[in-house]
Amino acid sequence: MTKYKCNICNKFEYDVEKGMEGIEPGTKPEDFPDDWKCPICMADKTHQITQ
Ligand SMILES: [Zn+2]
Repeated sequence: MTKYKCNICNKFEYDVEKGMEGIEPGTKPEDFPDDWKCPICMADKTHQITQ
C-alpha cells in the first residue's frame, strides 16, 4: 500500500489503493492528468510525494 502526501500544503493525502474522484484506484500521482491540481493548495502532481 502506497500513500502520498502533498509537500506544499502537507494536508492532502492520497492512497493509491483507493484512488479518488476522477482517479482510478492503482493510479500513481505521476500518472495523474497533467492538469491535476491538489484540491487543497492547487499544487501540481509533482508535489505529491511518497510518505
Ligand atoms: Zn496541496
